[in-house]
This record gives sequence, structure tokens and C-alpha cells, in this order.
Amino acid sequence: MGLTRRYRHMNWTATPDLEPDAPPTLHIFQCNGENEQGVLCGQQSAAGEDFEAARGWSFQHLQANPDHRSYSHVLSRPWRMIPEIEPDPEPIVPLSGPARG
Ligand SMILES: [Zn+2]
Repeated sequence: MGLTRRYRHMNWTATPDLEPDAPPTLHIFQCNGENEQGVLCGQQSAAGEDFEAARGWSFQHLQANPDHRSYSHVLSRPWRMIPEIEPDPEPIVPLSGPARG
């Protein structure tokens, strides 16, 4: 599922973060309906981990705005970058020049 690319002389893989401490996947439903002047509504559900709650908001919004029939499902999913080989830490460079004081 991941995608591997070479960057800074190393191969990196971008992959969904499935670790237990990863941020949650969030769902939002956003209204793409327009008012009589053609202005985008843009109202949206709360961001939450429950897809059905986000989709349920769209039905409530439709009930209040029967002409708003187009929605976007906006998904926020955590991903992580994994190096093929863990890079060495930055070398410690000693301060140069005489001590002042
Ligand atoms: Zn709307």
C-alpha cells in the first residue's frame, strides 16, 4: 500500500500510520450546495472518528436545506514516512574559537 521514493540518498516509504499511538482517522461531510446567488454553502459536520455520525449530519443538513444535495466526504488519515535504513544522527560539531569571558 505504501509508496517508495528516493530522497537524500535513501529510500523512503510513505505508508498509512497503523501504530497504536497514531492520530485517529477523521471524517467530515461538507456541503457543496449553493444558495440562490450561486454562493457555495460549505457548512460541514464536526470532524470525528465515526463515519456514520459525519454522514448523518448530511441528512440533517438536507432536511433543513432541501436544495443542498451535493456533499464531499473529507478524510484525514495519518501517514508516516519510513526510511529503508535509519539515518545516522547528526554529528556533534565542537564549538570553535577561544572561550570568552
Ligand atoms: Zn448546505
